[in-house]
Amino acid sequence: MAQYKHGQYLTQSQHEEFDKLLSPGTTTANAGIYRCAVCGDEIGIAKGHTLPPQNHHQHSPGQGPIRWQLLVFAVQR
Ligand SMILES: [Zn+2]
Repeated sequence: MAQYKHGQYLTQSQHEEFDKLLSPGTTTANAGIYRCAVCGDEIGIAKGHTLPPQNHHQHSPGQGPIRWQLLVFAVQR
């Protein structure tokens, strides 16, 4: 689970971008931290890069494929 210390620099959002489950190899629309909705594995990635492929980490049989979900995104000025 992602951690932080200075919560005053984070803002909760109800933006629909946080609800999308993205397939491996999808180009990211936001820089930030993405979490696998299946197993909780987390990565940091830049905007416009592609999310790691299906072989990035292993799921046990029956868990299904990796599904990346935006956890925190960086706001650039
Ligand atoms: Zn996973």
